[in-house]
Amino acid sequence: MVNKSVQFNIPIDDIPKQWYNILPDLPTEFPPYIDPDDGKPSRLANLPKLFAGECLKQEFSEDSWIDIPEPVMDLYRQAGRPRPLFRALALEEKLGTPARLYYKSEFYSPTGSHKVNTALAQAYYAKQQGMERITTETGAGQWGTALAYACAVVGLDVTVYWVRAVHRWKKERLQLMKFYGADVHASPSPMTAAGKALYDKDPDDPGSLAIAISEGLEDALNDEKAVYTLGSVLNHVILHQTIIGLETQKQFELADDYPDIMFSCLGGGSNFGGFTIPFMGERLTKGKDIKFVAAQSEVSPNMQGEYAYDFGDHAGLTPMLKMMTLGHETRMEPIYGDGLRYHGASPILSLLRHEGYIDTVAYPKDEKHVFQNAQLFLRTEGFLPAPESAYGVCAAIDEAKRCKETGEEKVIAFNVSGHGFMDMYGYDKVLGLTKE
Ligand SMILES: *Cc1c(COP(=O)(O)O)cnc(C)c1O
Repeated sequence: MVNKSVQFNIPIDDIPKQWYNILPDLPTEFPPYIDPDDGKPSRLANLPKLFAGECLKQEFSEDSWIDIPEPVMDLYRQAGRPRPLFRALALEEKLGTPARLYYKSEFYSPTGSHKVNTALAQAYYAKQQGMERITTETGAGQWGTALAYACAVVGLDVTVYWVRAVHRWKKERLQLMKFYGADVHASPSPMTAAGKALYDKDPDDPGSLAIAISEGLEDALNDEKAVYTLGSVLNHVILHQTIIGLETQKQFELADDYPDIMFSCLGGGSNFGGFTIPFMGERLTKGKDIKFVAAQSEVSPNMQGEYAYDFGDHAGLTPMLKMMTLGHETRMEPIYGDGLRYHGASPILSLLRHEGYIDTVAYPKDEKHVFQNAQLFLRTEGFLPAPESAYGVCAAIDEAKRCKETGEEKVIAFNVSGHGFMDMYGYDKVLGLTKE
């Protein structure tokens, strides 16, 4: 019997105590990171100077389960974990769909997104290792805010290079980062060589995530007491995010139900991966019949790109990763769901996409349909999704509408990766909420 409660949650003592590492369970071998053949210094050799040692160890670990350190468990509890799984009964009724819809509430987060799950772990490991500062990039601003928060509670300084196109208009998020104590620069900035080359040409350069990554990398390389952190894409980031899907599995047990299909938005892949990978593991190792769909924008449909070796950043400072990519120098048009604007997808998810385990949908750049569906969610369920999260919400609603036509009683699960309290401007611009 399906349990018809609206909210499913596990007791605080039942928060999973290990992250799930899918590397050993992948259907084909994980392609190693490599150096390009360009005669420049080895990027692989730089990795230990850039990343916290523990994160680097996790990046290539062959252990299926990795213990979450007890202090990180404490930080997770302090950040409000576990986060409930909701049954979207009001939305189902409004849609008149026979499908059952469930959503995970990563918007219940101190800074507004799932990114705190890895920010806390990475800040903890850096501090453990005696570091004093963390450098990073941010696009939409959610990662910068999550890291500013994590560094505040763990006790580290943080420098954030923020894509100028977004830095320009997200004033409140900038204020919040500074309130936490972060040092924030619009990118490209004059602070680094990679940034200055572009900044000198055009101080108004809108920038991109790949450029901001180059700046953060360069800054960390030049300071022995600093490490660099990334909020998405890399294996250890996805690993930390599996806390989302592992909780969700326990919550589905309480619901006495199991998803047929899972949706989430995908920029670099951290929330999509965190949410789906524990279920993907069950498909790979236990033969579960379950589908996965990544929701993207037509300005950056990286999951429909080419499966090839590419750099993670604009300047080519990272090793080359085999990923679904649009090319690291691609300039992408701005959208309000800016966190989805990245040229490449997580190597793990790229491999799974290449092997046929992940489907994708990409929505038009005007964002109208996406934001209209987000509004439907808001008006029925009451929660305001982040513009990025709106893509996953939209794809789930589109599926529920198809189920109405076919009469299928599908179980649809989606992740609401963050809230949009600081992003109303985008919704207003697209939907004309305050237009006279
Ligand atoms: C950063 C962000 C995303 C996109 O990044 P992924 O790594 O693909 O998850 C999506 N939603 C929210 C709320 C974000 O902050």
